[in-house]
Formats: sequence, C-alpha cells, structure tokens
Amino acid sequence: MTDLTRQPHVILTGDRPTGQLHLGHYVGSLRQRVALQTQHPQYILIADLQGLTDNGSQPQKIASNVLEVMADYLAVGIDPSHSTICLQSALPALAELTMLYMNIVTVSRVERNPTVKNEIQQKGFARSLPTGFLVYPISQAADITAFGASLVPVGDDQLPMIEQTNEIVHKMNSLLSEPVLRRCQALLSPVSRLPGIDGNAKMSKSLGNTLTLSATEEQIHKAVGAMYTDPQHLRISDPGQVEGNVVFTYLDAFHPDAEKVAAMKAHYRQGGLGDRQCKMALEECLQALLAPIRERRKEMIADKGALLALLKQGSEKAHDHTQKTLHAVKRGLGLPVMF
Ligand code: ATP
Ligand code: MG
Repeated sequence: MTDLTRQPHVILTGDRPTGQLHLGHYVGSLRQRVALQTQHPQYILIADLQGLTDNGSQPQKIASNVLEVMADYLAVGIDPSHSTICLQSALPALAELTMLYMNIVTVSRVERNPTVKNEIQQKGFARSLPTGFLVYPISQAADITAFGASLVPVGDDQLPMIEQTNEIVHKMNSLLSEPVLRRCQALLSPVSRLPGIDGNAKMSKSLGNTLTLSATEEQIHKAVGAMYTDPQHLRISDPGQVEGNVVFTYLDAFHPDAEKVAAMKAHYRQGGLGDRQCKMALEECLQALLAPIRERRKEMIADKGALLALLKQGSEKAHDHTQKTLHAVKRGLGLPVMF
C-alpha cells in the first residue's frame, strides 16, 4: 500500500478572479507563497470556475480579472520558473472529481460549513442561492486533492474547507481499492485575517473594503487617513486602546520593525501619542511596500499576450498532473479509464 504521508510536500493555493488582489491576500497568503516556492513544488490556481459560483450572471467580470490576478502574482514575486500558475477551467479533471465527490458529501454537511453559512448571509442569497455556490467547498477539495497537495497556505476563512477536504479524502480513500488521495494541512500566516480598511472583520473583494496591490499613492493616503482608531482617544494626551484599533492591526501586519511598533503601542496606551503620528508611520510603510509592486504590475499588465502564454504553459503542466489523479480515482472505483 502507498504511504502517502511520506511523499515530499506539494503546495496548492489559489484565488478567485473576482477582482484585483489586495493587501489581505498579500499578508494572508502571497507573502508565504513567495517564500515557499523555492522549497517545495507549488501550484497556484486561478479559480475562475469558483469565481463564477456567485457571479453566474457576470461571466465577463471573472474573465476580465484572470490576467489581472496573473499580473498581481508576478508583481509580488511569484516566479513561474518555481511556481506553476494554472487556470481552473482549463483542467477538466477538477470538475470531474467534483462530480465524484458530490456523491459522498451530504447537503447538510455543506450547509454546516461556517464560512459558507456566513457568505450566504452576507451575499443575501436566501432562496436564490446558486447550487454551484453551495458546493464550492467540494470543488475546492477536488482542486486540492487533484494536485496531491499536502500544504495549503490560506487565510483563516479557509480552515473549514481544509477540514472538509480531509473528510472527503478519508471517505473516498476507503471506497478505492487502494488509497489515492492525500491528506492536507492549512498553512496559516501570522496575519490570517486582515480587516478591511473600513474596520470590517475581513478585507474582501466582495465587500469593497480593499486596498489593492495597484493602489495609487493617493488611494493609500486616503485609506489610511479614513481608518478607524480608538473612538475614546479624543486628545493626544488621553490613554488609547490598541486592541481592535485598525491602524495598529495594520502596523502589526506591515511594519518591518516589530520593536518600534511595540514601543508605539506602549506610548499610545499610556497617552501622548496621536492618531496622526501612528497613521503617518503606517502610510510610510504601505507606500514603501506597494510602490515597487505597483510599478512591476504596470509592466506586466501591459503585455497580456505574455501573461496568457505563461498561464497556458502552467495549465498544460497542471493538466497532465491532475489527469493522473483523476485516472487513479476512476481506476480505484472500478470505472473504466478510456482516454
Ligand atoms: P471574494 O470576496 O471574491 O471571495 P476574497 O477577497 O475573499 O475574494 P479569495 O480569492 O476568496 O479573496 O481568497 C484567496 C485567498 O486569500 C484565500 O486563501 C483567503 O483565505 C486569502 N484571503 C482573502 N482575504 C484575506 C484577508 N483579508 N486576510 C487574510 N487572507 C485573506
Ligand atoms: Mg473569498
């Protein structure tokens, strides 16, 4: 019997092309992907089919963002010679595995997924919930297992998906003549959920509270200026609260000098440090982080032909890899593999 746990790590991550990537993606996942790409084989999936699950009537929105996301990847330092970037809709094995897995997951299990529950409420679907949206965690399980991924760098909203994937792995393997699917684990970054610039619990494309990686100097300035601090901190001399203060959450996430941030927090708590000064420190580090990314991104998006060619190359490699898993699952189930 194959011992799947002893195989070298494989990484799978991805993003829905529902808009340009933002600072939440950067600290929640992209930063780690750049660091990990030289250590393990890494696949990065642009999940256009999953993007359609809540955008069924606006396919153009999804289609037009595929290359935008590709440009974001290259701009932050994802290197196609180390990471395989591929497109979900170009990989039929993912859709076929989804169909097979749907038969072993109950509707009530999907409805219990806290992230899905929360998103259904946030999006106000009620009775108009698209079937595809309800089952997207199953399609994510297909994505992860098709690549044989063992590590999945994600934000904390994705933890229920990893749990559900491992349930599917267990159940499916027990139906196969020998285990084929590999268990996976989430790799959480130190900032696993960046709040929105409006103070909402999560920065998210769908909530319109993002600072994208292509944000202009002026947009960064405005966003930081409008951020919530401690509403009780009226005078500079007043003691202020750091917990729940978005400016400090961002300083923790982005400031390169943790000691300096700790000193600022102590000063703020004690009183005597103004919101303006904290915001200036934050703006300075965000401007420094985003300026080179914005410039590289501009160059990348200017040559869409080259972006598409890279995506095609990655998708070809991913196609072969995922077909192998599909075939192994089919054989294990006793289904004929014809092509
Ligand atoms: P949408 O609103 O369309 O769902 P999104 O902003 O949630 O978009 P996704 O493409 O769904 O972005 O997420 C891609 C990856 O980025 C996931 O691993 C997710 O956990 C992570 N991520 C997204 N937003 C944040 C955030 N605010 N903080 C940390 N990680 C995040
Ligand atoms: Mg999301």
